[in-house]
Amino acid sequence: MSESTLEERDRAGDHAYQGAHVGRRDPRYGTLVQGFNQRFTGHPHYVELCGDTNAVLRAVQKALDAGRRITVRGGGHCYEDFVSGNVGGVIIDLSPLNRVYLDRPRDLFCIEGGCTLWNVYTQLYKEHGVTIPAGSCYSVGAGGHIIGGGYGLLSRLHGLTVDWLHAVEVVVVNEARRAEVIIVGRDSASRREQDLFWGHLGGGGGNFGIVTRYFFQAPPAGPGIAHIASIAWNWDEIDQDRFTQLVTSYGTFFQKHSEAGTEYDGLFGLFHLTNKAAGQIVLTAQQVGKDDGPLRHLIDAMTLPGLDHVRQSVPVGFHHLVVQSRDVRTMPWLEATQTLNGSGPNQRGKYKSAYMKQPFPARQIDVIWQHLTTKYPNTQALLQVDSYGAKINTVKPDATAVPQRSSILKLQYQTYWTRKRDDAVNLKWIREFYEAMYGTEGPMPDRVMDGCYVNYPDTDLINWEYLYYKRGYARLQRVKKEWDPLNIFNHAQSVRLPEG
Ligand SMILES: Cc1cc2nc3c(=O)[nH]c(=O)nc-3n(C[C@H](O)[C@H](O)[C@H](O)COP(=O)(O)OP(=O)(O)OC[C@H]3O[C@@H](n4cnc5c(N)ncnc54)[C@H](O)[C@@H]3O)c2cc1C
Repeated sequence: MSESTLEERDRAGDHAYQGAHVGRRDPRYGTLVQGFNQRFTGHPHYVELCGDTNAVLRAVQKALDAGRRITVRGGGHCYEDFVSGNVGGVIIDLSPLNRVYLDRPRDLFCIEGGCTLWNVYTQLYKEHGVTIPAGSCYSVGAGGHIIGGGYGLLSRLHGLTVDWLHAVEVVVVNEARRAEVIIVGRDSASRREQDLFWGHLGGGGGNFGIVTRYFFQAPPAGPGIAHIASIAWNWDEIDQDRFTQLVTSYGTFFQKHSEAGTEYDGLFGLFHLTNKAAGQIVLTAQQVGKDDGPLRHLIDAMTLPGLDHVRQSVPVGFHHLVVQSRDVRTMPWLEATQTLNGSGPNQRGKYKSAYMKQPFPARQIDVIWQHLTTKYPNTQALLQVDSYGAKINTVKPDATAVPQRSSILKLQYQTYWTRKRDDAVNLKWIREFYEAMYGTEGPMPDRVMDGCYVNYPDTDLINWEYLYYKRGYARLQRVKKEWDPLNIFNHAQSVRLPEG
């Protein structure tokens, strides 16, 4: 893989946005210092909007020369304060760097670092018939999403997004405080470059530099058809026995269908175990391909004796009303992707995660029941249980920086609210729930659990290095030392320079 030349990058940037410097007096400042999570408002000296790689290079050098701290925003969907938490520094905002195209000289698909997933899905599919197995919410930015692993409704069929990544173009800062552009990838010759590429296969954003372009060689074909369904149970008809049955059935189903290479690969479930105040528990699921059999089988497996499921009538978490029908609906896949999207409104939020290698043990189901049925009145609090496994688990744990390759479920604890004065009560609920599940150490890898997801960062975690990366953290530290020796790119959970 050759390095890109300045001229080539200028050519690529011919039609690009010329950039903007947004200082504190600019009316756009208020918008640009905030991301999806309204808990965090930044106070940088300015925000630099960049439309091409050279603009990013210049913006980084300018900030370095002025001695200002740099943070980088792709799509602004970070769960924690890693971008906005930058008082007096510079936020480099990549949102104008948002093209998706076939780079003909290299014969590689290129996704620029400021794209949203919607840019990616529509353009890759409509123009080239391909896609990447990325997230379900299409307002999410490719910038932070891909580097953190990136999974979604096609991941049981195609694995993680990073499993398909071929190369990255990154702006890094060397020991002499000079910004430079490098392309590293699967074909890179040196171990040093291979290491940097490996760090981008799930190491997480804001660690080593600024990714301006992601390259994919032969991403999977996008499906033609998808079958989707949302089924719900009214909370007031659910007692602890029924709840236990639902949660057990879901885990057992995906344990049984966790091997890759079957018709169940194209099936993906999002089970929304909402707080009782929400009114309904909701299972949303998608099956791609002609046959909707596996989806119907999942619905059958979730049937409770003597209690029919009902139509979804309430939003769940950040998902709006997903599929207001009791029947399976069939539609073109891109339309289904749009239908299932649900970034929801911008609010305050707190999140936690866990991987599971086994269905929920009885004790955990009991804890979930206790915490969803307290007097906590938030209708937007839930534990979302996504299906996992199949193709994801065919990749070796050390092949990428995402070592969790034997899980069958992926959990996301979420709660949303709007007023600052409600922070304490909501944070208390989610923290107590999580601690009751895993103790103070978090979901330490064992027979049942397998750590946490770096794209769902949680600054409450004590042992985050191990929970996200397991033994891969040492290699990430080596990458840090080689490629960001001055620790220019840092945040509360960025990879630390090795000691000594
Ligand atoms: C509504 C919602 C739905 C989600 N759904 C999914 C899902 O289905 N699947 C899934 O896997 N994840 C999902 N996520 C998590 C998502 O993948 C992460 O929040 C991701 O990091 C967001 O990337 P971003 O560019 O939008 O965020 P940002 O806030 O811009 O960045 C996140 C982190 O990445 C860094 N970063 C951003 N761009 C770059 C870049 N170009 N180069 C280097 N570092 C960069 C930032 O500095 C920051 O540390 C969801 C998040 C939200 C809010």
